[in-house]
Amino acid sequence: MLRINRNRLWSDLEALGRIGAGARGRTRLAFSSEDLEARRLLVRWMEELGLEVHSDAHANLWGVRMATEPTLAPVVAGSHIDTVREAGMFDGTLGVLSGLAAVRAMNEAGIVTRRPVAVASFSDEEGGRFAAGGLAGSRAMAGLLTDGELGAKRDEAGISWLEAAAQSGFVGSDRLEPHAYLEYHIEQGPVLCDEGTPIGVVEGIVSLSWLRFTFRGQANHAGAFPMDRRHDAGLAAACASVALNRLALELGEGTVVTAGQLELKPNLANIVPGEAVLTVDVRQFRPELFEEALERAERTVRAEADRLGVEVTVERLSRAEGAVFLPEMTAMVERHARALGYRTRRMPSGAGHDAQILNRLCPTAMIFCPSAGGRSHCPEEFSSLDEVGAGADVLLNGLLELAER
Ligand SMILES: [Zn+2]
Repeated sequence: MLRINRNRLWSDLEALGRIGAGARGRTRLAFSSEDLEARRLLVRWMEELGLEVHSDAHANLWGVRMATEPTLAPVVAGSHIDTVREAGMFDGTLGVLSGLAAVRAMNEAGIVTRRPVAVASFSDEEGGRFAAGGLAGSRAMAGLLTDGELGAKRDEAGISWLEAAAQSGFVGSDRLEPHAYLEYHIEQGPVLCDEGTPIGVVEGIVSLSWLRFTFRGQANHAGAFPMDRRHDAGLAAACASVALNRLALELGEGTVVTAGQLELKPNLANIVPGEAVLTVDVRQFRPELFEEALERAERTVRAEADRLGVEVTVERLSRAEGAVFLPEMTAMVERHARALGYRTRRMPSGAGHDAQILNRLCPTAMIFCPSAGGRSHCPEEFSSLDEVGAGADVLLNGLLELAER
């Protein structure tokens, strides 16, 4: 089976990782001068590999390889090269540069596929600069974010997303219409690293919702008011947190429930809390289990509030739909990994990726490689040369199969 050139991929990662480098890690916020410098290097590499470079109205960038039937929709490998502040050198970049590594391997083997293979880099995946919520480039491409919304998203200097994109010089008039999409990414969690499993076969991306529970009891003197007659909103929030933790463990299947934010009123040591606001993050990647988790989280909290004689109201603050990838796409990734001799583990992604947007447009799959200690979004983010290379080999063989369909 064909494999990519690991050393070249590694040196590409290092070269791109030097752009925007500072005292800690590197910073390439969307459409910053560092992001644009990285884009220029990417375009140069695409052209050196013989790819035809395109971009769309939202500065999403892709290079298309020649094919025997060049008018067919391309099979796309993609991710992003923008970063958070003080980032590592793998998040996003790995998927894009592994796409180039796959093209290089095809070129060197003299392979011409039926469908074109393309390598894509989506704009503003991280969402830090304009608070556009992440995945902005791919969401705009899929029609999930309008230009009206992007025109209203501004950075600290008052520059809007659309203005920054227009000034970048990377806005074009093409449209990416993928036949299938593969995204290779670091896991960003500790599971593969702890197990020593080289390849994560991603079954889907979690859906996420934030629930805000407001408990209203009765503020009273901490000394004079008897324990058995209290309506302690703080106690209700604490018991709710414990019960939600138990619920997540009981639901299992990767359900995570985090009671991460709590405000007490009046928040004084000698007063029984009269009000408590608890904000809870619920994630699960199977849609039916996600709904069940949300419903049962609400019921669980109401039961705790009732038991303690406290009123509670619930608001659903935000909700982001994840993705469930087509089983045949997931199976294809698994098959290629095993044929290459790599052990695999099926898993959902707890983090958001462009793949969850692309999954609305075409059959999509994701490949994970281990992240040392589960660290990411920090300079300590690390995957070894062999770990990085293994996933890129899987990407290459997946692209080759899809490009013949
Ligand atoms: Zn990423």
